[in-house]
Amino acid sequence: MRTFIREMEDKAIANERLSYEEGCRLIQAEGADIIDLISSANRVRQHFCGDQINLCSISNAKSGNCSENCSFCAQSAYHGTAIDTYPLTSSEKLVSEAKTAASHNAEAFGIVVAWWGLREGPDLDAILERIRALSSAGHTRTDASLGIIAERKIAVQLKEAGLAFYNHNLETARSFFPNICTTHSYDERLKTIQYCKEAGMGICSGGIFGMGESLDQRIELAVALQELDVDVVPLNFLNAIKDTPLEDLPPLQPMEILKIIAVYRLMMPSKDIMTAGGRELHLRDLQSWMFTAGASHTLIGNYLTTSGRKSDDDLRMIEDLGLKHASSCQEKLLEVI
Ligand code: SF4
Repeated sequence: MRTFIREMEDKAIANERLSYEEGCRLIQAEGADIIDLISSANRVRQHFCGDQINLCSISNAKSGNCSENCSFCAQSAYHGTAIDTYPLTSSEKLVSEAKTAASHNAEAFGIVVAWWGLREGPDLDAILERIRALSSAGHTRTDASLGIIAERKIAVQLKEAGLAFYNHNLETARSFFPNICTTHSYDERLKTIQYCKEAGMGICSGGIFGMGESLDQRIELAVALQELDVDVVPLNFLNAIKDTPLEDLPPLQPMEILKIIAVYRLMMPSKDIMTAGGRELHLRDLQSWMFTAGASHTLIGNYLTTSGRKSDDDLRMIEDLGLKHASSCQEKLLEVI
């Protein structure tokens, strides 16, 4: 296995695409092989991203009562979870939150809403107003996660209002998606990403691990993201929320999470691999290893319905590792947009 991992590292440094079969072999690593995999992923991260770690922050700008039935999600109206629900946050409050995020060294601030998605009408108008307010305030880059986009022209309007990156996770492998959502399709998700790419936005798309998918399905998702050529790859680790259908699933173990990060770094060597929801909960004392395992980006502050670590602790962790939280990778990304 060690020789194979080094061959895959060489291939990744040459920015050659690892195949599905190669990814499936890597994700079988156990014990000491995981440490070899992490070491390789660290060298690949250093090669493409140097010492730079990107930081971004999100706001749950409209909470709960979502019409969709995603089985991992606390915000689905199907599950009866005990969360705060509220309508769309005002532009003023979002601008103030973006200013706070910038003071914590976040380069980007993403507004996230719990609904199916966007058609033309009052919701789109309200979102465009908020994007214009955030981008003219200029505290951070303006990103958003607004669900499915019904028509190409809506993506163009979002871009013209100042939206830089669109987050739309594939969530999991196509072959596992019907196990976690039946109210919309995988193809609708792919089409949304395509519209946003065509409109000139950067794409942030990844998934959630620990929902009962197989090891090979984790690689199936990685291959889908390779093919989409996304810019930022957020990796979330299921935080099983009470009253959701996944509430009884056991958490992923820290070494399993680090292995996923490392394999994703090798499979998408030059991309911005980002750790997001669940990382502080499940990595525990191995928190700082996420960068050694290949992450070049992390979400700071709170998540949508759960709390994150203190931003100061994350900034200190990055500095203690001898890394920087300014953003050469991000500048590279912005250059291509
Ligand atoms: S993941 Fe998004 S679309 Fe699915 S239920 Fe939650 S808020 Fe709705």
